Amino acid sequence: MEFEIILIIIGMLIALIFLYRSTSGIQRSSNSNVDTETSFNRGRVLNSALVEAKGKSLTNEQIEILQDEIGLFSWIPNDLLDPWQERIITFLDYFNIRPMSPGLPAERIELIVAAEASLLIVQRPMADYRHLSRINIWADKIDGHEEARGTATRNEINLSWHYLKQHVGKGRDGHNLTLHEFAHLIDFADDGVAQSIPVSSHSENFKEWQELVNEEHKKLMKAYEGGKNYSIRAYGGYETIKGDKPELFSCGTSAFFERGSRLKRECPKVYQAMKEFYGIDPANWRKAKAK
Ligand SMILES: [Zn+2]
Repeated sequence: MEFEIILIIIGMLIALIFLYRSTSGIQRSSNSNVDTETSFNRGRVLNSALVEAKGKSLTNEQIEILQDEIGLFSWIPNDLLDPWQERIITFLDYFNIRPMSPGLPAERIELIVAAEASLLIVQRPMADYRHLSRINIWADKIDGHEEARGTATRNEINLSWHYLKQHVGKGRDGHNLTLHEFAHLIDFADDGVAQSIPVSSHSENFKEWQELVNEEHKKLMKAYEGGKNYSIRAYGGYETIKGDKPELFSCGTSAFFERGSRLKRECPKVYQAMKEFYGIDPANWRKAKAK
C-alpha cells in the first residue's frame, strides 16, 4: 500500500515537472517576440543617458553641417531644438555608425544619420532604439541587398549613402531614407514584426492601428490604381505573402515629416495617429526665414 502511495507521488511529481516544462516553453516562445532582459536594460541605459544629456548642445560646427545638409532643418520649430540636440548627443555616444566602404566622409555621415534618427524620436524615449546594435553605411550598393537603398531589421540598419544624400537636402519631397528605415526599426521594436503597427498587440491602441492600416492601405491602392498621385508614395502599398503591410508606416512617416499638411488633408486619420505617436505636429511647422 505504502509502495503504491510512493508510486502515485512519483507519478504526480513527474506530471508536475512536465507541466512546468511545457508551460515555460510556451512562455519562452511567446517571449521571443518581446524584450529580452538585455534589450530592456539597454533601453533603460539609453533613457538615463538622455536625462544626463539634458541642457547639452552640439558645437556650432556640427549645427552648421546639419543646416547645410538636412533639408528639414529650417522647418523644425524652436521648441524642439533642445530635445533634438540632446538626442543627437546621446545617439552619437551610444551608437556606432560604421562606414562599410572606403573614402566615405564618415564624421559628416554619422552626424546626419544621428540627427535624422533623433528627429524621429524627438518627443519619444531613446529606448525606442533599444534593440539597435549595428548601423552600416555603404557608398552605394548594400552587400547582400544590392537592389535596396536601405534595409532594417530589429537590430540592424543599412543605408546607401549614394541614395541618402540625394534626398536628405530636400525636406519637402516625401522621401527620406533615414526616417524610413528607422521607422521600420520602431515598428519592429514592440513585437519583432514590421506590420505598420508600432504598438504591441497588448496595447489598447493595437486594434485601432490595425483597422487604420487596413483602411488606409485600401485607400492608397485605390488612389494609385485610379492613376492618382497620393501623399504616401506607392511603395507604401507593398504587402507580404502573410498579408502584413510593412511599408505603410515607414512611407507614411516620411510623408508625415516632409508633407505633413498634405497628409493631414488626404489621410487625416493617419496624420492624427502619427501626431499622437510621434508627439509632434509637422503640418504646423513653418520654414524659418533664411538668415
Ligand atoms: Zn521600407
